[in-house]
Amino acid sequence: MVQRAAMLKPIHRVACSPALAACQQLMRRFALWLCDPQVSGASVTQANLQANMGSAIEGDWLWQLLAGSTGTKALLDKAKRIADLPPADKTGLTQWIQSVSTLAQHFGPTPPAALPVDPPNGWGARDQRWTAFGDVMKAFYEEGLRGGLPYAANGAPTADAALRVSYDQFVREFRAAHRLDPHPDAREVCVLCGGPLVQPAVDHWLAKTAFPLLAVCADNLLPICGECNSSQNKGQNPAHTSGAFEDWFHPYLRHANGAIRLRYDEATFSVHVESATTADKDKVVNLDKLLKLHLRWTREFKAEYRRLQREAQCRYRGDVHALQQRVMGYRQSLSAAEPHHEIHTLLAEALLDPARLRAFAE
Ligand SMILES: [Zn+2]
Repeated sequence: MVQRAAMLKPIHRVACSPALAACQQLMRRFALWLCDPQVSGASVTQANLQANMGSAIEGDWLWQLLAGSTGTKALLDKAKRIADLPPADKTGLTQWIQSVSTLAQHFGPTPPAALPVDPPNGWGARDQRWTAFGDVMKAFYEEGLRGGLPYAANGAPTADAALRVSYDQFVREFRAAHRLDPHPDAREVCVLCGGPLVQPAVDHWLAKTAFPLLAVCADNLLPICGECNSSQNKGQNPAHTSGAFEDWFHPYLRHANGAIRLRYDEATFSVHVESATTADKDKVVNLDKLLKLHLRWTREFKAEYRRLQREAQCRYRGDVHALQQRVMGYRQSLSAAEPHHEIHTLLAEALLDPARLRAFAE
């Protein structure tokens, strides 16, 4: 019994994605500018940001982000600390920034050297120089995207607050673009697990703690269900092997749609997650490990099985023919626009097995 899983559901960029891409360019420009040997802490002024961040609009927005933060955040102080680093540290950080910027090439025909999974310059994860850099980069997401980026949906800089792309707009557009049933009352489906999209949260496919430069990046952000995003599943866990991506799918850059097959295993009463081709075998194993899909899909399979079993016991006891009609009707009523469609289809196929059907009607 094999069911081809649509999972990952098709995932695409949305209308405002160019604004996220423009923000990624701004983050990179700013990070590299701070590492310029000519730039020191004293250089981090509103006038210099206006002159060096692409446009006065972007410079002013960034200045507000830095200077508007107070208390433990004190982002301006942290940016100055980076700008005041000795040249050797700046060289190491520059190399780190340039390496992380190659992300998309890792999914092309000639992947570059693995992304750095550790901070540069031998800094520990809690080194204050590293956390200062990380806090400044993550602020583009936490405060910047929440309040609105200095870009309109098409990526053009704008000072018009009404046009600036925000977190809420991104989530709204992503959900609208990935609705499988456009009816406003219809359930939404999580693009990763195919289950209901409850408590959606924006996931950083590459965690922003390890890759703060990608805190805002069109290739790195996607709303997923709360269970996929929980720490025992995707959470902050790595979707790479020591910075290499050859054995990994990626929601935007190497999609898994159609690559995964589900198989019901009679002996263990469980759902197995398998690859449609040998070329994708390791990728499917890694994705399953990351999201615990076989466990979660087995749980749904059993729960739906139990629901139908209860119905069979009260209404179709001893009547295999009527039960068969019921299960065939069930299979026909399933919709690909509903959560868990693949699991329920797999279940219907399993139940239509004559031996199973007889046992079910007892
Ligand atoms: Zn999910």
